[in-house]
Amino acid sequence: MISTFTCLHCGCTFPCNPRAKDQKYCNAKECRRASRRAWKNKSYKTNKSYRQKCLDSQKSWREKNPGYQKQYRKDHPDYIAGCYASQKVRYKKRREADQKAIDKNNVNRNTLSSNPRRDGVYKLIPVDGRKNNVNRNTIVVRMQILSG
Ligand SMILES: [Zn+2]
Repeated sequence: MISTFTCLHCGCTFPCNPRAKDQKYCNAKECRRASRRAWKNKSYKTNKSYRQKCLDSQKSWREKNPGYQKQYRKDHPDYIAGCYASQKVRYKKRREADQKAIDKNNVNRNTLSSNPRRDGVYKLIPVDGRKNNVNRNTIVVRMQILSG
């Protein structure tokens, strides 16, 4: 009996190639491209040297093609709107995560690293210590930057 595999991209079932171990994609052009794309995404996320190579390559391409990005943004206003929308979502998630950490009173040094830490006037807002797992000797304050 010939063993088979199901292509992750097109979902069709094919006989396994005895020379290709752990085959996940078929030979269709679109499926090979999907396989390559998946490999690139995975490598970009997990392999630091591959990621750096990609970033260097993009940087050199941008330097060879000055003004391309500016023109692309001009020609694709919906792309800009999408960027702003996803940025809003990212910032909201970050704020909620920071707030959650503050509410749970398990703030570590990395949690607030996105917030500026500098001299300025700060406002103290009272927090219910009973809900924050705080011992009696601890004073809990929330720092809200009014000027920087
Ligand atoms: Zn396929």
